[in-house]
Amino acid sequence: MKKGKIIVLSGPSGTGKGTVGKKLLEINHNLAYSISATTRAPRPNEQNGREYLFVAKAEFQTMIERGELLEWAGVYDNYYGTPLKEVERLLAAGKDVLLEIDTQGAQSIMKKDIGAVFIFLLPPSLVELEKRIRGRGTEEEAVIQKRLKAASAEINLGKDYNYLVINDTIDVAVEEILAIITAEHCKTANNLTILNNLLAKGD
Ligand code: 5GP
Repeated sequence: MKKGKIIVLSGPSGTGKGTVGKKLLEINHNLAYSISATTRAPRPNEQNGREYLFVAKAEFQTMIERGELLEWAGVYDNYYGTPLKEVERLLAAGKDVLLEIDTQGAQSIMKKDIGAVFIFLLPPSLVELEKRIRGRGTEEEAVIQKRLKAASAEINLGKDYNYLVINDTIDVAVEEILAIITAEHCKTANNLTILNNLLAKGD
């Protein structure tokens, strides 16, 4: 069976990674969501093991020490990380694995050179980004200000990604990402074995 691909979806907070990610998972059934571990408190409607694995700081520290995380980062006073084992299991089962992570986490995966696909989600404008963060209504003003300040600096990091997708209309962004995933699977490097098998059979 062909191994799946890691699809890293990143971008500043409020660009709509969550909404876009959910739609991608609804449409593309070969795509599985990697549930991150976090030390932040659950928001209303969030369930342990569904949105995140909610863990204490000490437990998170242990996960780091045991090498159980593919990547991790401190984001806005909390820790977030991707449990490695589950990602490996899904990839081996031929699934593509969606990582909705912050830019620091994406950068650390870039350094690992593990053939992941990096997609950066851009907001159509900074005004729209602020609207989205405020519209979510889940953060206090101080947190909103922190996230907005980080966003401008983070946008610059998009230059290092394989793809830039503007999330103006969700459905268009989703369509574009689905196309990216399809194209990645058709890349020559991924299919040379098939080509060589055809040549070997000579038919
Ligand atoms: P939130 O607290 O709003 O759910 O997430 C805050 C930020 O942490 C978002 O940018 C989200 O993508 C990022 N994040 C979620 N899970 C992970 C993870 O496993 N690793 C990293 N590096 N960032 C994550």
